[in-house]
This record gives sequence, C-alpha cells and structure tokens, in this order.
Amino acid sequence: MITLIFADALQPFLPPARRGGAWCLPAPPDASLKHVIEACGVPHTEVGAILLNGQPAGFAERVADGDHIEVRAWSAADLHAAHTLRHWPAPEAMRFVADAHLGALARRLRMAGFDTLFRNDFADREIAALAADEGRIVLTRDRGLLQHKAISHACYVHATAPDAQFSALVERLGLRPGLRPFTRCIECNAPLKAVDKGTVLDRLPPSVREHQLRFTRCTGCGRVFWEGSHWRRMGLMLDGA
Ligand SMILES: [Zn+2]
Repeated sequence: MITLIFADALQPFLPPARRGGAWCLPAPPDASLKHVIEACGVPHTEVGAILLNGQPAGFAERVADGDHIEVRAWSAADLHAAHTLRHWPAPEAMRFVADAHLGALARRLRMAGFDTLFRNDFADREIAALAADEGRIVLTRDRGLLQHKAISHACYVHATAPDAQFSALVERLGLRPGLRPFTRCIECNAPLKAVDKGTVLDRLPPSVREHQLRFTRCTGCGRVFWEGSHWRRMGLMLDGA
C-alpha cells in the first residue's frame, strides 16, 4: 500500500469521499508520482512540492510499496522557494493564456497590464502549444486541460465571478508588483501609447472631446481610450485587488 496526504488547497480536486484525511491505496506497478497524483484527480500544475517519505521529490520518481507521499499546493508565499517543482517568472514578466470560458478574466488582466491571450474558440492543443512555446501561464477551469503534458505553469480558476477570479489570481501569483494599469488594450492585448488629444479629436464623441484630457491609442487595433467612467470602474476593481 501507499499513503497519500493532500494539502487543504488540493482537497477540492479529490473525490468527495476521499477528502479530509490520508488516502491509502495499493501501490501501482511502475508508476511515477505524477501519474499517481493525477489519478487521484489533482492536476500536476496545482502541485507545488512533493515529499516522498519526508524528502523533496520530483514528478518522475517512481512509487514503491510502503511509500508515504505528501502533496503540497503552491501559493504566492512559496512560489520562488527552492523546493518547488517549477521556476516561476517575476510578476512583471508573467504572461497568460486564458481558455475559451474566461474572457472576462482575460479583459481584467489586460486592463491591469498583463499580456493575456484569449479567443473564445481556443482549442486545448492551441492553448498547450502557446503555454509551451511562449512560456505562458494557462488559466482554466478545465482539469482535463491541466493534465496536458506540455503545460507546466497553470492556475486552476476556482471562482466563477470575474472580479473574484481576478482577485484570487493577484493573490495566488503575487501579481501586485507587476500591475501596470491601463497600458494594454483590453480588446486585442496590444500595448497602449499616450497620444495628443489633437491627433484623435475626430474620433471622439462630443462630450469626451470637451471634458477629457488624457488619451491613449492601441498600437494593435487603433482604438482610442480615455479616462471615462469605464476607466474609473476598472480602477476601483484594481484597487480592490
Ligand atoms: Zn487593441
């Protein structure tokens, strides 16, 4: 038999009957730690560290009869610790790819300045390829996607409301030092550039032309942004996070 103990933060991934205590099961023949952990329902991307019989271990290590396996989650507090299973970029260098159901979260991340790819028709294999090729952190509520072997950095999104999703992500990845509000287009993800009012006058509604002073233009799609009510509302959301 082998014994598995999962951290509190990983309990929601376990079958309900297995939550709360140690899980003893027959030692599978020639299985890796990664295989055993994922067979219990926990995506490897949610695991921050593994202690095999009290010693830090990697995903590839083999499981043997009598093993005691403690599985820990990762959080902002230990993201850059020595015993973690993966190296994370600094917050200001974190880039994301959001799955097809997380458009509202993607827009919030862009509003906060984070490079975030999103399309509502992304296929799993495209997301996995973007994660592997461009070093992007995958955001999803799909456990199956997180078991993809090409994905090493990901964050399972537990919350369903977009503002709560954003706050949880800021907390868990320690994103605060990387916040660069209003520097990226929420529609297309390209950087914004400050422009003189005179150069965009013909594109402004009359009330904006009269009252607003600061403008930015998207270097990708050309949209013009100003500090209107939408801007203030998003500012409040960022303050909240
Ligand atoms: Zn744009």
